[in-house]
Amino acid sequence: MSIISLFRILIIRVSSFFYISRRSKVIFYHDIHSNTKYTDMSTPVDLFKKHIQMIREDGYEIVSEITQLKGQIEISFDDAFLGLYDNIELIKELNIPVRLFVISSYLDKAGHINRKQLIELNQLPQIIVASHTHSHQTLAKMDLDEIKFELKSSKDQLERILASKVDSICFPEGNFNRASVFLSEAVGYVKIYSSLPGFYYDDFIGVKKRSLVQFAQEREFKAILKGGDHCLLFWYKRKHYNK
Ligand SMILES: [Zn+2]
Repeated sequence: MSIISLFRILIIRVSSFFYISRRSKVIFYHDIHSNTKYTDMSTPVDLFKKHIQMIREDGYEIVSEITQLKGQIEISFDDAFLGLYDNIELIKELNIPVRLFVISSYLDKAGHINRKQLIELNQLPQIIVASHTHSHQTLAKMDLDEIKFELKSSKDQLERILASKVDSICFPEGNFNRASVFLSEAVGYVKIYSSLPGFYYDDFIGVKKRSLVQFAQEREFKAILKGGDHCLLFWYKRKHYNK
């Protein structure tokens, strides 16, 4: 583990001592794996199970939509890698709602969930399909028409495949600007998620915050649940938000 990672964990753990509120928040992963691993961002299933156990032991409720200021956790997965599909029995067994952010043009790419599998997942009560744009490019580098295409075509395509509504989105690489937020609302998204760390109800220009936990070991995970990673918001904002 690098010095920077260790320093990051230390900051998160120390700053978590200042939070005792148990306020609701969204956490996110990229994938889970038992045998085959489809991305370096994947979380081993044993660590994932540990996270779920810790959330429940801490008295949080895992929900599909946060509706209360305190005590609720929402879980999301970005990119729709195949590991989630391979391990879907575990998701059913744990009975946890998962919001799955899908890149519509990746549906037939190797290592990703295909159309047929997505339809299957969408029929499960645990899975909420959401958009992660059409081609996973950095929105802030595009002009308005291109951004609108990324947002709208993925929504239309997913809705056509699933014959059901897709009304939430998160941005590729967490990167966004004001235009991407405005255009997301204009094309009909009602819930917009960032990758900025924070509590659910402390949104930023209408965008919900989420904490990345895919590699967090026990004590780091506990600290993030409490809000220990929020002190990194300034750094994440500089990296992710381009007015
Ligand atoms: Zn992504």
